[in-house]
Amino acid sequence: MDRPVLALDLGGTQVRAAVILADGSRVARQATGTPTAQGPQAVIQACIDSLAAARTDAPAGIDADLAGIGVSSPGPVNQWTGVIVSPPNLGPQFHDIPIAARLEAALGLPVYLERDTNVAALGEQAFGAARNVQDFLYVTVSTGVGGAVMVDGHLILGPDGTAGELGHVSIELDGPLCGCGGRGHLEAISSGVALARDARDAVARGVSPFLATRAAASPAGPDGLDARDVAEGEAAGDGVCERLMDHARRAFAMACAGFVNAFNPELIVVGGSIAEHQGDRLLDPARAEIRAGSFATPAARVRLVPAALGPDVSLAGAQPLVGLRLADERWRRGRADWGSSSP
Ligand SMILES: [Zn+2]
Repeated sequence: MDRPVLALDLGGTQVRAAVILADGSRVARQATGTPTAQGPQAVIQACIDSLAAARTDAPAGIDADLAGIGVSSPGPVNQWTGVIVSPPNLGPQFHDIPIAARLEAALGLPVYLERDTNVAALGEQAFGAARNVQDFLYVTVSTGVGGAVMVDGHLILGPDGTAGELGHVSIELDGPLCGCGGRGHLEAISSGVALARDARDAVARGVSPFLATRAAASPAGPDGLDARDVAEGEAAGDGVCERLMDHARRAFAMACAGFVNAFNPELIVVGGSIAEHQGDRLLDPARAEIRAGSFATPAARVRLVPAALGPDVSLAGAQPLVGLRLADERWRRGRADWGSSSP
């Protein structure tokens, strides 16, 4: 599609909006804190205000050409009804919010909602590291570990829209509990939340001089520690930090080797803040584990590469998201269905 769209990136800390041109460039950017504590209505109003401001700030002539609005949200979401189901970090009342219907009523453009990692995969495919690639995985290693699966050029959604949650596969039978309630999941071992938990635990057990010093210097004490402290502890030669980072990287490597067997991807695109900071320190052990532990034929094909679009990926992906869904009769029909019954 060669038309611009409005993009909304709804996150736990920030609401961001922009106009995305057909070449993927982002203009008329807006950003504001997510008013989570004020409840869902305030969050939706912040979304509407940000999109309206992006529209006002867009270069002359763009507004009349806008094809629609693409919305990136933490999952789980119902893409077909445009409802955000129960994201973990948008506040306790943020359940079953019909955001697509609300934005469409306020702004008068067709709205398509998708999970943030799926939007990111579309963005990397259209404008980033997966250009011209039909079969790839997108994995983000950040506060959480998320994923998306692209097969034959199409996102795999599943009947409930939840497919591709690559962070929630079990790596350790008796491993730590995950935020989702599962046990030993990749996210429970390799994510920022997991490393922060392990850092607090190391301070409580008195085994890491580096983390103890960091915790003492933080106004929040051990609760102020995060993945960056653990990574910096490793760089400073702290033995516990080295073991924690190594464990996180090995879990990621084991998961990738399994993903190669399960999906035979051409590419695994790895994004997220931890992946960005770690670079090949994270990717090289995964490459080695794939060579050692995956089937030989898909292992010889797959390449692990860093994501190209950084934190903008969820904005950029709104352009192909809107383009693909407007071109697909099933999605147009779905919108007509919810449009007639939406509040
Ligand atoms: Zn989980």
